Amino acid sequence: MSPPEPVSGRDTALAYRPGKESLFPVRSLWFVAALVVLLAAVLWSTLWLVHNYEQSEKQESLQQASLVAAATIRSRLGETELALRGLASDLRSGDDARFNSVASELLANNPALLRIELRFGSDLLAAVDAPQPRPRLGPARRAGLAFDTQIALAASRGADRLAYSRPYPVEIPGELPFAVTELAVPVERERRGTLLAVYSLSRMLDYFAPAAFLAANEVTLGEVDGSTLARPASGMPGAGVYRTTVPLELAGGRSIWLRADSRTGEPKIIPNLLAGMLVAAIAGLAVIGGLLGRDMRLRARAERALREQYAFRTAMEDSLVTGLRARDRDGVITYVNPAFCKMTGYRSEELVGLAPPLPYWTSETADSPGQAQPRARNPGDQQQGLETVFRRRNGEQFPVLIFDAPLIDANGEQAGWMDSIFDISDQKRIEELSRRQQEKLHQNARMALLGEVSSSLSHELNQPLAAISGYATACRNLLASGKQTDLDVALSRIYSQAERAGQVIRSVNDFVRSRKLDRAAIDLADLMRALEPLIELQARELGVRLAWKADPGAVVHADRTMLEQVILNLTRNAIESMASTPPESRLLEIEISLLDSGGDGPMVEIAVLDRGAGVSPEASKHLFSAFFSTKEQGLGIGLSLCRSVVEQHGGQLRYCERESGGARFSATIAAIGATT
Ligand code: ADP
Repeated sequence: MSPPEPVSGRDTALAYRPGKESLFPVRSLWFVAALVVLLAAVLWSTLWLVHNYEQSEKQESLQQASLVAAATIRSRLGETELALRGLASDLRSGDDARFNSVASELLANNPALLRIELRFGSDLLAAVDAPQPRPRLGPARRAGLAFDTQIALAASRGADRLAYSRPYPVEIPGELPFAVTELAVPVERERRGTLLAVYSLSRMLDYFAPAAFLAANEVTLGEVDGSTLARPASGMPGAGVYRTTVPLELAGGRSIWLRADSRTGEPKIIPNLLAGMLVAAIAGLAVIGGLLGRDMRLRARAERALREQYAFRTAMEDSLVTGLRARDRDGVITYVNPAFCKMTGYRSEELVGLAPPLPYWTSETADSPGQAQPRARNPGDQQQGLETVFRRRNGEQFPVLIFDAPLIDANGEQAGWMDSIFDISDQKRIEELSRRQQEKLHQNARMALLGEVSSSLSHELNQPLAAISGYATACRNLLASGKQTDLDVALSRIYSQAERAGQVIRSVNDFVRSRKLDRAAIDLADLMRALEPLIELQARELGVRLAWKADPGAVVHADRTMLEQVILNLTRNAIESMASTPPESRLLEIEISLLDSGGDGPMVEIAVLDRGAGVSPEASKHLFSAFFSTKEQGLGIGLSLCRSVVEQHGGQLRYCERESGGARFSATIAAIGATT
């Protein structure tokens, strides 16, 4: 399988797109085709079986009906045979009256008979014809016997039994040709006497075969060679599908054949309700099978996509170096990724389900705002990371930067927060290194400047001081020698040299002060935002937190660089003063307020507050004096320069002790009105 293909864009996590795949791949199409063929075969063979069953049923019932019809005809013939035998048993020659009456009765009862004759040898003794409208054969036609009749006559007399002649056709003008058979019954008392009964074969069918049988089939009587002898007077042609031939045994060993061709046609493909239901059920089964197969494929495809998506997401998460952490609205951890576990040294199972306080918090940062719950943010606000410190399982602390985003559930409601956590130890190390180097450079520069200033000062002052010392010695010598006249000159020289020394110091002072101010309108809130990273950098070294606020409209007309130097000097002093303050209490506050000081117009106060040891009463006397420092490495010119700068801006730099402990330095400068 090809590897999953990631999708770029904001909804990458869920928009994983599996490779394109047909819902009906070639393999499935083959399967479906085989299934269709199988179902068609089952359906076809079922129908074929039903069809065959019906055919054989019909054939069977036709056979049965034909046998019944043959038996019926046979039984009707039997009745007449019995009656003729009865007549032949006691008939005497000359007893014509009896013959006539019995024959007439027989003809009346048997509609298939056309004529009954009494013959002696082949001579006709008496004859009775059937009443109209049966065809009348007449004496002329019966003068000579047909050959087939003669054979039957001979057979009957020879064996003294009944014998039917082979059927033969008769043609009578005005009538359709029809076939007859003649029954020869030997008269017992007369050696050559015979009764002959002439049957019409078609009338035999009309009157002896069951009417229902005649109506349902095309019925014929025929010879063994297939030739047709007789048909019923009425009857429709058969359909040619179901045919049967059964023998109609006649006395004397003769047989003719009863043939039936059913009018019922070929059974239909869907012959009955049962087969119809079967077809419908199989078709329904095929449809259901198809739908089920499709559904299973869809489900399997969705499951596979889900598995691939899960694998893709896991691989993505595992490859991240950014720590990810999800929390619910109560701050309980619901998810952490491998990078976060690696960062903190805890396993995912140890963290998931934990509520604050969390094991990787440090005692100093546990209560800081934004630690337990992300800080409230207005929609559209630019996301700002929270910088804090985490503790690894082994106790080592490391700085992290946390970015949070609301976690929205499927209902569109916020279920918690998702945080990205960056370990910024390396970044901090580099920043710290560069800060130290910067500091060292500044210190070196300050030392160099101080060295330069002090060497030029000493050089400039050495001369007048040496001169003063020389004139002073001269004065003492003059006083000792009593020459008081030159004393005045020496003293005036001393005065002028002291004046010169003072001039040197003033000129140095003037040089320091003479820097031209580059003034501009400065919004102190903007200035603070720019300085914040620098102050943070200073503060972080001693684990000091920074909090600042500025009134809107706090704008002054000042030299930006100098003002920055003042604030940075004051904050550095404040941070350094908190070195021995407990870590949780190390807080540096900067408050910039707009004051309305009456007649002087609005003023801006920049106050820097710390929680350090404060200034001792002794030190407070020299606080703003140049070169006063209580620090080992201190130069003692910071506060003095700050005061010069503030005074150059027409303001004042003050110190006061805080009631809660610590120092408060404030610079007050005239404001120039509200910002726009
Ligand atoms: P430096 O910092 O080089 O000592 P500064 O002129 O800035 O020089 O400070 C002079 C002295 O004032 C410091 O040595 C310190 O004793 C005292 N000082 C300044 N700021 C504070 C403060 N916030 N808290 C306590 N003492 C302070």
